[in-house]
Amino acid sequence: MSTVRPACPCGSGLALPACCGRWHEGPGHLQAPDALTLMRSRYSAYALGRVDYLLDTWHASTRPATLDALPEGLKWLGLEVRRHEMNGAQGAEVEFVARSKWAGKAHRMHEVSRFVRETGQWWYLGGQVR
Ligand SMILES: [Zn+2]
Repeated sequence: MSTVRPACPCGSGLALPACCGRWHEGPGHLQAPDALTLMRSRYSAYALGRVDYLLDTWHASTRPATLDALPEGLKWLGLEVRRHEMNGAQGAEVEFVARSKWAGKAHRMHEVSRFVRETGQWWYLGGQVR
């Protein structure tokens, strides 16, 4: 099988550079225009092992000091966005299901992530597993 261009891991159907790659490579990593786009780009960052991007888009109030490299052999299989809701003008929630496979076992993560807009920029605040 030959691949022309790598598809974006978030499942948009677009090539990576035309989708989440734009935010991963952007100056300061801080350009995603809304919480949903930021959420998708963070999923792709997990899939690609972009720990730098995960930390750079995490709000300072909840950001861990460091983030371990993602486990070797962990494969992210797909993202399904269930809901994207504004919470006032400066907040948003995104509910999603992410599927992965690790050590031969399938995992399914259902999370509601919270985002906040500050200084014109969207940040990941945290999530609650459903
Ligand atoms: Zn994408």
